[in-house]
This record gives sequence, structure tokens and C-alpha cells, in this order.
Amino acid sequence: MKTHPLYLNGEWVVTETTHAVVNPAKAEPFARMSLIDRSRVAQALNDAHAAFLSWRQITGKARGEFLQKIAAELDRRRDGISRLITMENGKPLAQSLTEIAMAVDHLRWFAEEARRGYGRVIPNQVEGKRHLVIKTPIGVVGAISPWNFPLVLGVRKAASALAAGCTVVLKPARQTPLSSVAFAECVDAVKLPPGVFQIVAGSASEIGQEFLQNPLCRKITFTGSTSVGQILIRGAAECVKPLSLELGGQAPLLVFEDADLEKAVDGAMIAKFRNTGQSCIAANRIYVQRPIYQRFLDLFVAKTKALKIGDGLLVGVQIGPLIDDEAAAKAAQHIEDAVAHGARLLCGGRRLKERKGFFFEPAVVADVPDRGLCMQEETFAPVAPVCAFDTEAEVIQRANASNFGLSAYAFTRDLGRTFRLMESLEAGMIGINDGVPTTSQCPFGGVKQSGWGRELGLEGMDAFLETKHISIGIA
Ligand code: ADP
Repeated sequence: MKTHPLYLNGEWVVTETTHAVVNPAKAEPFARMSLIDRSRVAQALNDAHAAFLSWRQITGKARGEFLQKIAAELDRRRDGISRLITMENGKPLAQSLTEIAMAVDHLRWFAEEARRGYGRVIPNQVEGKRHLVIKTPIGVVGAISPWNFPLVLGVRKAASALAAGCTVVLKPARQTPLSSVAFAECVDAVKLPPGVFQIVAGSASEIGQEFLQNPLCRKITFTGSTSVGQILIRGAAECVKPLSLELGGQAPLLVFEDADLEKAVDGAMIAKFRNTGQSCIAANRIYVQRPIYQRFLDLFVAKTKALKIGDGLLVGVQIGPLIDDEAAAKAAQHIEDAVAHGARLLCGGRRLKERKGFFFEPAVVADVPDRGLCMQEETFAPVAPVCAFDTEAEVIQRANASNFGLSAYAFTRDLGRTFRLMESLEAGMIGINDGVPTTSQCPFGGVKQSGWGRELGLEGMDAFLETKHISIGIA
């Protein structure tokens, strides 16, 4: 079994201490990942800082050219890397390829943005002075990414920080480090200067503490659970370290009686079942207006039953395994709880015990009351709770009755309603007649307990830039 290396200061480092990487479709290890201890992570931050001193000096255009070359490498290697993503994460191969295409697009977007770290010239208030606002890179960035989109969420962080002139130490998730190693191979192939981008792995809490406590690390960017986000917030309080946090979601999906029903069903299918339901912007609660409730359910259940479940490497599979047994147990518990609250299980909902992997049949549960667990907590599985509503005002209130606010979806053809929803739904991203709102050029992030700050778009690079006011006396 191959032991994959870390990428440290331009060197490939294989260590004695390793952990197993499990293929969730087979519930067995297929590779090992090298691990380092906290003092070696501190060394990586030192090296990243040394690299920062020159990386920040080169032009944005030159940094962008590196990112374009990395994008080309990633694109060229997509067949091999997509198999790796599927093997460590479980998602169907077609979705791994989409993930790579999105990562390539992020790199290209930020390659172009690298040239545009604009400042401002501000008219002076008194004579004899001039005022400038300039943007400078924040410094070394500690990036922590999760397992559900193992490539693109790390690349998203790296591309924006590198474009801004920062250097990056990335810690991928324990379950899925290999996509990041494959990305580092692309970085290495284009001869990015040593230390500008590095990969570390080891104890997550120790690496997190090193990022927090080491003064050379100037910012942490994190995607993951709200509970780990809270650990980082507590640690950041000690040293006043800036954080960008993309945390949990609990997205409502609203279908109004004036919607194009077929499109609404297709939108709900993708918003719910993409990545086997393991997406922070997954539709977790589906509200359908009463006059079309039964018709929606009929179509939605038929399409859910037709989903092909299996090993993501096999052609045509649409639903892969969950990441582990715990995830399958949580999905089963959410369904049990909904049924105990009077909901009806219309299809699926079974852990496929006859298979070795962590497979769970996509489920639709109807008439789930708002107090059901799956209406309150992120399920992170192919479980779709559906319930009826009567009025727009009522459903907006129910949709917003959550501590989370990452994404929301609505299907309607009424223009006035569209604007009312845009303005009143409490979410950082809203898909109107669109189940897949994410795109490189628009900000990605949440409100309330879904996090702080934005990735992607103009905001994505600004997150890694300091704003400085320069006042010049010229008299
Ligand atoms: P999930 O529930 O999706 O696995 P986590 O928040 O546990 O989400 O994991 C997201 C990332 O955070 C992973 O890279 C994980 O290793 C890392 N992580 C877990 N615990 C900590 C911690 N105490 N400090 C910093 N990072 C952590």
C-alpha cells in the first residue's frame, strides 16, 4: 500500500508515522498518508514566512501566471485525480470531474484577479495632504479543509490567498488527504518557489493550535463543522487572529405553487442529492406550497427511487457511499426521529448492510414537522424531508427559524416574490430557480452560525489582503 508524502518547502517528505486512507465504497484502506508533529508544522510556517518575503514582491501578473500553469496541470491530470477523489471520498466519478473543473476555474479566476488588488486615491480633507488606500497581502495563511469536497475547498483557499500574495500551509482532512497531495504535484510541476504552498498532516487539534498560536501565521481560513469553528474562534480570541470560517448549513428549499414544477423537482434533486447529500449547501428542508404538495412528492419520489447507487468508480452511478458508518447512523437516526414525530417515509432510508461500503439508500420523508431533528440539524446524507406550507410569509418565517444561514433555494416565477425572498431569506447564497448557485466569480459564505467572511469573487481575494491608509504631507 503506497504511503503518500507531504509537500514541505518544495520537498516530498514520507514519514514513518502514517494513517490509513479508507475507500468508503469498500470500507477498507487503500493508501497511507504521512504525518508530522507540531514542531515540524512550526517549521513549515517558518518556511512559508521566508517564502512570503519574496512571493509578495513579485507582480500580481506573475503570480497569476503561476496559477494559470497550475490550472493547466490540474486539468491535464483530471482523469487520474478524479479517480483518487472518488476512492477517498466516495462521490461518483462524474462529480469528481465536476469538482476538478470547478477547482480549475477557481485557479483561473484568481489568476486574473491577482492583477487587480486595487487601492484607492481619496480626495484630501485639508490642504497639503494626500490620502491613499493600498492593499497588501496579509502574510502566511493556515488553511484547513474538510473531506466532502476534498480538492476544490483546499484549492479555493490556496488560489485566492496565493493570488493576493500570501503563502499557504494547507491541512487537508484526515479522511481525504490524497486529493491535496495530487494538487501539490501540480504545484510542484510548475516550479512554484519552495514554501509558497505546502501540505501538512497530523493531529488536527495540534495543527490548529499551531496555526492559532504561531505569530508567523497571520490568518486561518477554515471550512468544516461549527463545533471546530467554535474551537478556532476561542483560540483566536487569545491572539486576535483573523479567521475566515465556512461552517455548517441548514438550507431551506421553497417551492411555490407558481413554480415550473419539473424544474423545481430537478433543482431539489441536485440541491439535495449532489455529493450524496454531503454538502454544506445541501437542501436540508424542503417546503412545498400545499396546492402542489402531492404532485411534487410524486415526481420527487419517482426520481429519487431511480437514482443509481453504488461504487462511484462504476459508470452511471449517481449516489456513492457516505464517508463512514457514523454518517450512515446519523442519517438513520434523523429518519427514525422524523417518523416518531408523525412523518411518512416514502422511499429508501436503509443502510445497505449487504454491501461492504457505507451505502445508504436515498430517502424521502413527507410531512416532517419543524421540530424534527432533520429540520433543525444538518443531516449530511441523502435524506430529503419534505413538508407543506400555505403562505409566503409563513414559509419565510419557517425558513429563517434556524441558527444557520449558508444557502437557501426558492422556486417561483413571480418577480415580486423573487425580490421579497432575496431580501428576506437569511442566507449568504440564494438560488432562485437554481439548485447549484456556486460560481468562481461570486462570493461564497454564510450568515449567522454558518460562518464569517466570504470565499470566491472579489471578496475571496480581499479576505487575504490588509487595507492600509497612507496619509502623505506634501506641503
Ligand atoms: P467534519 O465534521 O466535516 O469532518 P470537521 O470540522 O471535524 O468537519 O473537520 C474539518 C477540518 O477541520 C478537517 O480538516 C479536520 O481535520 C479539522 N479539524 C478537526 N478538529 C480540529 C481542531 N480541533 N482544530 C483544527 N482543525 C480541526
